[in-house]
Amino acid sequence: MANNQTEEIKEKINLVEYIGQFVTLQNRSGRFMGCCPFHKEKTPSFSVDPDRAYYYCFGCHKGGDIFNFMMEYEKLSFPEALEKAAAKAGVALEKNGDGGSGRNRELKLKKEALIELNNRLSHTFAYFLLETDQGVQALEYILSRGINRDTISFFQLGYAPADPRWLYGFLQKKNYSPPFLEESGLFSRRRRGYPLFRDRLVFPIFSLGGDSVAYSARLLNGEGPKYINSPETVLFKKGKLLFGLGKTLPHIREEKSFVLCEGNVDVLALYQAGCRNCVAPLGTALTEDQLKLLKRYADRGVILFDGDKAGFEATKKAAILCENLEIGLKAGILPEGQDPSDILQREGGEYLKKIVYESIIIFDFLLECSIRIVDVYTPEGKSTVVKELTPYLRAVKSEVKRQAYLESMADKLGLDRRIVILEYQNGSAPAVTLRQNSQVEPEKMSDELYLVLIALANPSCVSELKKELHSGELRDSRAVKLWELMEKWEDIPQEPNDILSRLNDNEPLLFYKEWIKKDEMKLNVQFTLERGLRVIKLRNLERRSREITALLNKSGKDDDRIEAELLNEKMRIDREIQRIKVL
Ligand code: ATP
Ligand code: MN
Repeated sequence: MANNQTEEIKEKINLVEYIGQFVTLQNRSGRFMGCCPFHKEKTPSFSVDPDRAYYYCFGCHKGGDIFNFMMEYEKLSFPEALEKAAAKAGVALEKNGDGGSGRNRELKLKKEALIELNNRLSHTFAYFLLETDQGVQALEYILSRGINRDTISFFQLGYAPADPRWLYGFLQKKNYSPPFLEESGLFSRRRRGYPLFRDRLVFPIFSLGGDSVAYSARLLNGEGPKYINSPETVLFKKGKLLFGLGKTLPHIREEKSFVLCEGNVDVLALYQAGCRNCVAPLGTALTEDQLKLLKRYADRGVILFDGDKAGFEATKKAAILCENLEIGLKAGILPEGQDPSDILQREGGEYLKKIVYESIIIFDFLLECSIRIVDVYTPEGKSTVVKELTPYLRAVKSEVKRQAYLESMADKLGLDRRIVILEYQNGSAPAVTLRQNSQVEPEKMSDELYLVLIALANPSCVSELKKELHSGELRDSRAVKLWELMEKWEDIPQEPNDILSRLNDNEPLLFYKEWIKKDEMKLNVQFTLERGLRVIKLRNLERRSREITALLNKSGKDDDRIEAELLNEKMRIDREIQRIKVL
């Protein structure tokens, strides 16, 4: 029974000791006090009661047992917390007898054994690097790159010996079975017992829990790939972890922000320079999973990728992912051809830190970069810049920001702002965008109704719109009714609510009331109306074009005259469609 088990776990774990790993606690007559990890404070109001296995903060009123602490502080889900605490307490969790428990248990044991092996091995590698003759060259190499001993120890760097027989022998002596070693990710799949990492500088990869779960190892001499990373194992899934995170997490959590760079050595360099909330994506392209992981702890970050074409593409991708995940992203500007580790080495830590502090908003960065890459003195160049940035602009959630970005792009390129907006619109099929975070269900709010409501909110636009739009062009019956009422408007604008209450349907009124609260109905009005009109016109023309095609297919040979008329109309319409599309 889970309940008994959670009680048993709570009894077996010393909460003071456990929380003591993260918070400095002092004994005040049986109650342990420290500074609360959940809010900022200078005088301790966070208390842990070991007898009741309970913690409580008198300042922010957060409290609970070990599971609450793990969920709140370590951001684990309840099952994760339960599993971790059970392992710590040495309590075997009963699974609700689904037959899978035997396999789960086996997997769990395998994971535990592998973690133990990796933790042990990283220590041995570190020992080789720091204490033995065989590691001297690797140590000198990393020191020569400006990384100091504190940083080396903090990230537990190591050295993997050159002797290909060493590792297998070492682990066999420790009684690991051959099949287990085969799945450890440490050996070649083709050559049994042949280690993947030989004569390399080793960067252990740590899990969020601080265990060593895989390695990234750098070449020192000779031929071969510059870095070799561990293959996937039961502990390590590519694209799910980041290099450095297991060590820098407390800083990311504290600052609620991260610094993202490309390489392992860059992480060390940034850390040493004082930007301690740094991580890197481990050789592969940055993944959504990696950003989601960061998003658990941070709501913003700084990206420091190369300024070359590849770095620009990677930064653009990261910018779109961050926009989707609502992570505020800035970018640091690196001197041409240098990465953070080069800067630490050549200019020093202060300079590197300054680059991070002086990072600029991601749009400005992308704009600067693409202007640098493209020849913006030619018309094609200008158009390329707009196209390059369009995918990011589409991902931007705020219409206000998008508008501001488009305008600053136009100014930078020396173009008319309206032209840039049109160019942007033509990037793909135009659509009146609805906010995802709106309460209104998008399918209930048609493009047409939205357009008419915008006009309603901005009476000064109505007379212009009347010249362009006729109720016969509308399909959504709510939009038709509303527009018919508005078409009858004389010069005196009426109260929008009055008009809306004259409709039989009260949905438009509800929409209107909700949307008018947000300023966006009054922003970019011209832009939104033009876009909406285009959508409607295009849709109607395309519908008519399809109708004609159907008619032409049906009409018999004797209807020559009608057929010619239809063909004529279709040609006219198709031309009009083309014209609107490239407008
Ligand atoms: P260093 O500064 O050590 O020369 P770097 O970090 O500047 O290396 P990059 O070539 O920019 O090197 O690579 C960035 C990251 O990509 C590396 O830190 C490593 O994690 C990964 N990586 C590089 N080369 C490879 C490779 N051949 N195979 C797998 N991963 C690699
Ligand atoms: Mn480098």
